[in-house]
Formats: sequence, C-alpha cells, structure tokens
Amino acid sequence: MTPVITLPGQLEDTHHLTHDERESMEHEGDELPYSKESSESDPMLRALTRSLLLELGEDPDRCGLLRTPHRVAKSMRYLTSGYDMNIEKVLNGAIFKEDTEEMVIVKDIDFYSLCEHHMLPFFGKAHIAYIPKGKIVGLSKLPRIVEVFSRRLQVQERMTHQIAETLMEYLQPHGVAIVTEARHLCMMMRGVEKQNTVATSSAMLGAFKEPRTRSEFLSLIAGKLS
Ligand SMILES: [Zn+2]
Repeated sequence: MTPVITLPGQLEDTHHLTHDERESMEHEGDELPYSKESSESDPMLRALTRSLLLELGEDPDRCGLLRTPHRVAKSMRYLTSGYDMNIEKVLNGAIFKEDTEEMVIVKDIDFYSLCEHHMLPFFGKAHIAYIPKGKIVGLSKLPRIVEVFSRRLQVQERMTHQIAETLMEYLQPHGVAIVTEARHLCMMMRGVEKQNTVATSSAMLGAFKEPRTRSEFLSLIAGKLS
C-alpha cells in the first residue's frame, strides 16, 4: 500500500475543498471573542496583569508597560482560544465518504501550547496518520484539530491523546497514530535548564497497536524525529 504523505505547506491548496469548507475557512476566527486583530481586551485579564506587574516589583505606569496589560490580555485569550473552538464547527462539511484504506499521513504540523504547570510555552511538531474505513477528512483540518487542543493549558501527553481520540471518534478509521515532539520552555529557561531536550509523546490507536503498522508509520516519519 502507498501511503499519502502530506506536509503542511501543501495544505494551502484549497481547490479540492467544498464551497462550504472554503467559506468556513475564510470566516474562521470570526466567533472568537478576543481575536488577534481585535482592539478589545478583557478588563479582568488587564487588571490581573497589572497586579502581576506590581507584585513583580514593576511600575505598570511607566511608558513601556502602559499597554502591556492590554497586550497580555489579548495574547492570553488568543493562546488559549482552543477553549472556545468547537470540533464540530472545525470539521464542518469536511468529512467525506471515500473507499480508500491507505494510510494517510500529515507530517510536521507546527503547534504552540502552554504547559499547565508553569503556563510557559511548549512547541514543536505533530505527525498524524490514520487508516480510513470509509471516511476521510479534508487534510487542512488536521492542523486545525491540533490547534483546538494545543491552544489551551496542556500537558503534551494529554494533548497527543486528545487529538488521536477526536480523530477516532469522528472518522471511525481502522486506526490513528500521532507522534508529537516539543521543546518546553519550563525546562529550557528554568529548573533543569536542559536546552536541547525534545520531549516526544505518542498515541497509537486501533490498527496502529499492531507492531507492523506502527513501525511502518514510524519509519515513514523517521528522520523528522530529532
Ligand atoms: Zn512546565
């Protein structure tokens, strides 16, 4: 069997998308209460940031910090916007009936998340594979599903499993495999200060529990794992 391997750079191509899917891509982000572009920010988050600055011994009224509470409030909302995303909406119209049972792989999906223990970023790449059983999903949706679970307070292992279980639930495929690799700023900037440590986490569901299928997937993404 010949797996279809896709890199995120190739996902820009939208000609295969349905009208509805293109529409939903063009309007995505519209419903977010405090999107990246918004000039509004949450007053409570601004107040909390101001208190934090004071507590750290800073002067929140000095020139460079005047708009910091506003920026932090907006940025925190954006970095945790996964809480407001809805899988059904993300997948809207992008699951298709298809008679293929060949492994589909999307490698090198960038993600950025915040560790729930320190609220510091961890970031890296996700590699996703599934073996369809009658249903496939628009490939551009896989990075979007990753965002739903990465843009919130997380631990890498749970994020990896949530993505895998979501794909199992909505596609009911023969199996789903996910490997994530990430650098954690809480390890790099503080504590153990292990600068070059990459944490790897995986979830292997269904057919990927079989050693042969699992090792086929792992060898197809190998070379990517640093
Ligand atoms: Zn941490």
